[in-house]
Amino acid sequence: MSAFVSKYPLAIDENMVGEYPALVKSGAGYFYDDVLEYRVWCHPERGALDEYEGQDYYCAFSSYEDAQQFSEQTAGAEHPLVLIRQSCWINEPQTGVFTADRGERLTEWQVIWLNNAKRQDGDIENFFAKRGIAFTGYQEVMDATPFTRDFNPQAYKAFPQYLGVIACSCVIDGKLPIRWVSHAGGDWQMYCHVDAHDFSENSLDFEQNIQLTNMAQLLKYNPDLQILYDLPIDKGAYRDHVESIWQYFEDCDVDQ
Ligand SMILES: [Zn+2]
Repeated sequence: MSAFVSKYPLAIDENMVGEYPALVKSGAGYFYDDVLEYRVWCHPERGALDEYEGQDYYCAFSSYEDAQQFSEQTAGAEHPLVLIRQSCWINEPQTGVFTADRGERLTEWQVIWLNNAKRQDGDIENFFAKRGIAFTGYQEVMDATPFTRDFNPQAYKAFPQYLGVIACSCVIDGKLPIRWVSHAGGDWQMYCHVDAHDFSENSLDFEQNIQLTNMAQLLKYNPDLQILYDLPIDKGAYRDHVESIWQYFEDCDVDQ
C-alpha cells in the first residue's frame, strides 16, 4: 500500500472545507498554525462558468494537489491560494515596525509561503531577536475574524478562540464560574448553572442574560475549560464546584 503524500499540509478539518467565511483578512503575518482549505478563485470575465451572476467565486479543496489540478483544468481559474488560521502572528502596521499579535485570524496566503512557516514555540520571539528589536509581549486582537459556531474543537484539539457559544452574562462577565456545559445538537452552551436561568418562552431573564459570545471571552475567566474541547455532540458536562471533576451526561435536544 502506498500512502498519498501531499506536498503541503492537508486541511485540518475536511468537513469544514468550503464553510469558512469568504472574505478574510489579508496580510501574511509570517507564521501559520493550521491549514483550513485550498481555494481556487474563478473569474467569469476570464472564461470561468458564470455561477453567481458575474461575481468571482472560489472552489475549496482539502489538498493542494486537488486544487492545483482543478486550477489547471479550469478556464478563468487562478493558481490555488491557501486559507490558514493563525493564533499568533506578526503585524507590520508600518514598514519596519512590528507587533506580536495574538487572537485568531483567518487569512489567505500564497501556497509557497507555507514552507517553513508552521509556527513553533519561540518563533515569534526569535523573529524580534533576529532583527534586534526588543520583544515587549503580545497584544491581544479580538476582532481579527468574525466568530463562527461551526469551528470543530476536536479537529483543532482545543477550543478555537472564535467558536461561538451561547452563555449567560454571569459567566461572560466572569462573575460566576462555568459549571454547566452542553454540546446538544452541535451547539455549545455554557452557563453558571442551567437551573439558575429561566429558558421559558418570553422569559425576561433569557432576553437579558443569555447571549452569543466567543470562547476567548469565556476562557479568560475559565482557562481550565479547555479540558472539555472534545465533548462529543449530544453530551453535556457539569460540576458541583469549580474544584470538582466534571460529570458527563447524555444531552439531546428533545424539544426540537
Ligand atoms: Zn448564569
